[in-house]
Amino acid sequence: MPLVSMRQLLDEAAAGGYGVGAFNVNNMEQIQAVMEAAQNTRSPVIIQASRGAREYTNDRFLIHLMRAAAELYPDVPVALHQDHGNSPETCFSAIEQGFTSVMMDGSLLADGKTPSDFEYNVEVTSAVVERAHALGVTVEGELGTLGGIEDGHGSGETHLTDPDQAVEFVERTGIDALAVAIGTSHGAYKFTSPPTGEVLAMNLIQEIHEKLPTTHLVMHGSSSVPKSLVDTINEFGGEIRPTWGVPVEEIQLGIRHGVRKINVDTDARLAMTGAIRRVLTEKPEEFDPRKYLTPARDAMRAVYEERMTQFGQAGHAGDYEPKTLEEMRDSY
Ligand SMILES: [Zn+2]
Repeated sequence: MPLVSMRQLLDEAAAGGYGVGAFNVNNMEQIQAVMEAAQNTRSPVIIQASRGAREYTNDRFLIHLMRAAAELYPDVPVALHQDHGNSPETCFSAIEQGFTSVMMDGSLLADGKTPSDFEYNVEVTSAVVERAHALGVTVEGELGTLGGIEDGHGSGETHLTDPDQAVEFVERTGIDALAVAIGTSHGAYKFTSPPTGEVLAMNLIQEIHEKLPTTHLVMHGSSSVPKSLVDTINEFGGEIRPTWGVPVEEIQLGIRHGVRKINVDTDARLAMTGAIRRVLTEKPEEFDPRKYLTPARDAMRAVYEERMTQFGQAGHAGDYEPKTLEEMRDSY
């Protein structure tokens, strides 16, 4: 099937009461691992690329790999999403490449570092919505800023989302999905101890969902950073400091309160790195990339399958007929 609109995936997820993992990719093995996991668990899925991923793959490799994925896995509804677009131009170029969804992150200025003001955010996000919806492409916006810096993106400061401002933001921009800042951050080092209600403001999700019941909420920086993945890396010569991610139970609580898209990147990076380190340590004579990339792909697939099951998207791939972007355009 062709790449489908993210809005449709999220509408279906809302109707079914589940969440959909959005997994960041940079290369063929990651795309294959996501698609195999989706096929095995019969899951609709979102694959997303950051600006860094688009640069790394020169865009064209990425888009052709995604077309191959859609062709080889006709039973898996898959959307291709631009993660953290820093400007309308970045979003427009993604749409030209064939992305079916874009995030306009106007919570930061175009440098991807400096927190912006509310009016700037409304202005750039509305500009993207206008052009994207005319083509049936989905738009995610962000209000508030996440902690952490990933791929050079992020201010390093956290500003939690204000629920009343969220209502005004959604009304004025017309976005399909809203990324909320509730205390999570990007990268592996999210929390220095298991997060409690003090640092992870899950109550905000509930409050925003009550005010915006039809807006799909997005949790960024939602890798769980399992200790077993960190331990494998460190067992084979890595040096990852003790760290905690977002517990899956907290994500599941969010899903019960309107979270429909959950961004996961770090967990797959950890799984891949651990598997490669293991092979290179246990078999130092090995130099065939397939010998360490195959276990790396398997390790990522296991993480994706686990998340797909935990988020509830497993089993839902065949629930609906994917709509064309033209049909989506007409629905706006
Ligand atoms: Zn993010």
